[in-house]
Amino acid sequence: MQGLLDQVSDLERLTNRVRTNTATPRDLASLRTGLAVVPEILEALPDGVTAGGAVIGRIHSSIEAVELLSAAIPEDPSISVGEGSAIREGFHPELDEVRSLSGDARSSIAALEADHREMTGIKSLKIGYNRVFGYYLEVTKSNVHLVPETFERRQTLVNGERFITPELKELESKILNARDRISELEREIFRRVCAEIAVYGERIMESASALGVLDALVSMSQAAAENGWVLPQVDDDTFLEIEAGRHPLVESSLGPGRFVPNDLDLSNSDRQVMIITGPNMSGKSTYIRQAAVLVLMAQVGSFIPAAKARIGVVDRIFTRAGLSDDISGGQSTFMVEMVETASILNQATNRSLAVLDEIGRGTSTYDGLAIARSVAEHIHNSPKLGCKTLFATHYHELTQLSTKLEHVDNATVTVREWQGDVIFLHEVKKGAADRSYGVQVAKLAGLPKPAKCL
Ligand code: ATP
Repeated sequence: MQGLLDQVSDLERLTNRVRTNTATPRDLASLRTGLAVVPEILEALPDGVTAGGAVIGRIHSSIEAVELLSAAIPEDPSISVGEGSAIREGFHPELDEVRSLSGDARSSIAALEADHREMTGIKSLKIGYNRVFGYYLEVTKSNVHLVPETFERRQTLVNGERFITPELKELESKILNARDRISELEREIFRRVCAEIAVYGERIMESASALGVLDALVSMSQAAAENGWVLPQVDDDTFLEIEAGRHPLVESSLGPGRFVPNDLDLSNSDRQVMIITGPNMSGKSTYIRQAAVLVLMAQVGSFIPAAKARIGVVDRIFTRAGLSDDISGGQSTFMVEMVETASILNQATNRSLAVLDEIGRGTSTYDGLAIARSVAEHIHNSPKLGCKTLFATHYHELTQLSTKLEHVDNATVTVREWQGDVIFLHEVKKGAADRSYGVQVAKLAGLPKPAKCL
């Protein structure tokens, strides 16, 4: 199926170009290739694939369109229309006739060149063409004395002279007329073909969108099979339980066997807000983003990288992560952070998942801590909100909230200290971290030793 889908280019884009008269001959050739594999795709679909009705019955084989495109457009057409190779030979009798006339005139040019050589005895005489002068006879300086008087001089070059003759002029006008006519006919025929293909536009568009769904499903199946993903249980409950979950992208960039899987257990009624503390570089961001990614994957119908999972449908996933600013739009880094936080607090519901990475770090320590704490409290206390929340932070003070607020719990990412260095274990456990090991991580990053005082 992957092999077949690879041959289908963006049918929606191509169809839109056909409909708006902006398609090129190559676009029609790609459309033909794509539509031509559709019957094979339909045949290859296993029985029972329904994908909620998004695929079956919506992929149509447009045989008539393929036939028309095969008859009209050559295997390897020119980039634009009007150059003479946009329409296949045999498709349009008048075009074929003008093409053969033009071909004859071209062979007549070759014959005329041979004639003129013989007549003048100039072996190096040749016929050339440029846009300004049209066709001309070119004779090198050393042979100019052999040129007969009937030749009319047109241009003098450093090494030779260019002439025309009445016979050459006559042939030229035949060729140019034929060229104009070919170009005119090609445009006309091409437009007609596009108009006929546009009739199948709706069918092609529906097929294209269903093929897009199929492509996504096939890719997800392939990724699931290759990476040992499992089918999550997705229901209307409000649980979020993941056993041995992995972040699909971090796992694949680390390579096999190096990612440490972790569990997650949240629910609206019990562990609604999880405060995650832990050293720098230990894996807090990875852990909370992994939760968002796995929930999203489960909801789009994908298997997920975990041993087992039970995921209640969520209405939205909110994330506040990373640093960014919008200085040209009048927003500082901290302002962006707060605007995003505000939108979560104003819009989340008890069916949402919020992933908050280090809220409050963009301002002074006390302001930041105050904001972080009140955000956590607000999420917990507001009856309107109640969203499941993962909150990664270096404000260890926040872990005290678990003793005061019923649905707040703590988790920490473990490290081990060994001979003054930190070893990252990336394991998420219940509990709180006591320190962030920022100094050790800064040392790992290569911050220099103190400069000696002079
Ligand atoms: P900081 O507080 O400094 O922002 P952090 O605790 O959020 O750090 P991450 O950015 O999540 O840490 O992770 C740092 C690196 O650790 C990742 O780039 C990844 O390579 C590695 N890592 C994170 N989680 C795991 C895991 N579960 N297994 C293996 N490696 C991991």
